[in-house]
Amino acid sequence: MSIQTHYRSCNLCEAICGLEIQTDNGSIVDIKGDAQDPLSRGHICPKAFALKDLHEDPDRLHYPIRKTDSGWQQISWKDALDDIAEKLCSIQDKYGQNAVGIYLGNPNVHNLGSMSLMPMMIKSLKTKNKFSATSVDQLPHMFASYFMFGHQFLIPIPDIDRTKYMLILGANPLVSNGSLMTVPDVRNRLKNIMNKGGKVVVIDPRKTETARIASDHCFIQPGADVYFLLSILYQIINVHKMSPGRLAEFTHNLDELESIVKSFPPEATAHITGIDAETVKTIAAEFCNAESAVCYGRTGVCTQEFGGTVHWLINVINIVTGNFDREGGAMFTSPAVDILQQPSSIGHFDVWRSRVKNLPEFGGELPAVTLADEILTDGDGQIKAMLTVAGNPVLSVPNGGKLDPALESLDFMVSIDFYVNETTRHADIILPPVHNLLTSHYDLIFHTLAVRNTANYSKPLFKKNPGSKFDWEIYLDLAYRISKIRKRPINKMMYYMSKMFGPEWLIAAGLKRGSSKLSLNKLKKNPHGIDLGPLQPSFPHRLFTKDKKINLLPKILVGDLKRVQETMANRPSMNGKLTLIGRRQLRSNNSWMHNCDSLMSGRNRFNVLLNHSDAEKRQIQDGQNVRVSSPHFQFDLKAKLTDEMMPGVISIPHGWGHDSDGIQLSTASAQPGGNINNLASGENIDLLTGNADVHLRDIDISLI
Ligand code: SF4
Repeated sequence: MSIQTHYRSCNLCEAICGLEIQTDNGSIVDIKGDAQDPLSRGHICPKAFALKDLHEDPDRLHYPIRKTDSGWQQISWKDALDDIAEKLCSIQDKYGQNAVGIYLGNPNVHNLGSMSLMPMMIKSLKTKNKFSATSVDQLPHMFASYFMFGHQFLIPIPDIDRTKYMLILGANPLVSNGSLMTVPDVRNRLKNIMNKGGKVVVIDPRKTETARIASDHCFIQPGADVYFLLSILYQIINVHKMSPGRLAEFTHNLDELESIVKSFPPEATAHITGIDAETVKTIAAEFCNAESAVCYGRTGVCTQEFGGTVHWLINVINIVTGNFDREGGAMFTSPAVDILQQPSSIGHFDVWRSRVKNLPEFGGELPAVTLADEILTDGDGQIKAMLTVAGNPVLSVPNGGKLDPALESLDFMVSIDFYVNETTRHADIILPPVHNLLTSHYDLIFHTLAVRNTANYSKPLFKKNPGSKFDWEIYLDLAYRISKIRKRPINKMMYYMSKMFGPEWLIAAGLKRGSSKLSLNKLKKNPHGIDLGPLQPSFPHRLFTKDKKINLLPKILVGDLKRVQETMANRPSMNGKLTLIGRRQLRSNNSWMHNCDSLMSGRNRFNVLLNHSDAEKRQIQDGQNVRVSSPHFQFDLKAKLTDEMMPGVISIPHGWGHDSDGIQLSTASAQPGGNINNLASGENIDLLTGNADVHLRDIDISLI
């Protein structure tokens, strides 16, 4: 035995936990938390152990494959890359440049190669038909930041380690390990708030794992968060008075807020939210009277019809109570590599629109819910070819049932992925990059969204096989070939430097430019990472608005209140139907990692949670098989009766549905589950931002 110990950050989810991994001659023998990591302090979750499964997974692809009449066949990298570049360009020649569509999955943002060098490949295609997981569950955060602070990635982060009061809406950090709030070891961090005499209050239609350890929990009707927040704001302005402190100097329109919230006293919204007026008043008072407080919302308040407005109101509440850009409130990181300084990252809105449904782009991407329309609807600009990268939209985008045949109808499809899954099975060619542990890593995104400033560089654990490629090599090779066919100049410095040194030279340059003035060598000598301290006040300097002021009341967001009011007046009756909300699971990573034995073994966790009263009305008992149906789809699963669900609301985990023909995922296929996104029509979106609305209100559940 020659045991070697490696330290690296886990890049499976946003928490970027430090890992201590022991290997012996190419095999992983142990994975545990790195107690010396300054951010995660030794915390890890069960998914970290699954890195071993991922490394050893016999279903994982190692070489390019092409679909033939007799099945998948291995081909050379050269043939695959030449063929892809030629086909994508000829389809663009024939049908126009937007005839090639691109879908980027969530793992890309966890990946150094994708974050640094994938843009070169994307730019080479010059298509406006770009889609990603952003518009499935996080666009509202970016939308609010863009219009209020001038940059789509200037996202406020709760200062969880110093706050005295945390109000959480539609988020379950105990299971997600934080999202748009990189926060490993969140259980202890939340407990610390309460141990120091503070409070954690959770507002959610489900008494989640986070709610169970919180000081208080209130059920709220799914999608009614906008009314709750408007009533909280009404109380703050009319009863407690605004106290923005030093923020008043650089915040526009504070005086106009009162008229905006006047129609939303707690008594007027209680019947919609399900939260009585006294409770709203108590929460508003506690928030205002706390030494420091922060309001935080996440996926549950993104994936609804008013996601953008909800995130704007969350920011407004933090600002007008003075809990913004200050210790214990919502703050901003000072990352060692500051991606916000790239002018191209600022963002834009409505520069072009989708062809079929006339939906505006945000940050260069169109809403993912309309991808199938753009493939299936004939006419100029129709998508005829797709490139997917580390994404499985058939499972993760509402109405995957429409997208599934749409992908099959394409003239050509290529996927960059190391699995044949529900989406990539439609590809003509699949290009597999090497997996996580064979790559170096510096987290460009999640150091930017973390609750503490730290920096961490990870070396690869293993050498890659000479016949395999890093993802960034695939991007460079495709960009080069496409530019050559198009006779367009390529960014030579970027191309040749990256070919020689990989994305590391970009990290070295970014560190040098950053405020911490770290060097890559210094990071390499500190394998546990470097602590750069707690978050610091940074406004107005950090603002990206032209006048360095916060735009408290962007016209586009204030304008959305008309829709909010109209919906308040015309709330449709439920007619005995149930509302379905999704849920995240600790042993799952959206739609992937379902092929890892260590995560999938044990009891079946794919079940529907429903309240005892809803079960009784339908004569359903705990553990029975039931059928969940919408007007669009149905599937069967086991019922779990629990009072953690609000009456009238049921919950099923997302990311499942591995029952398609031709996928090569042996473990996932053995636990297929059902795809909750197939229950959706794909028509429901937040009309303001284009984010998917996945709260389904037309659900039936019955015994089978
Ligand atoms: S919480 Fe996320 S980053 Fe941490 S070990 Fe689990 S998967 Fe990895």
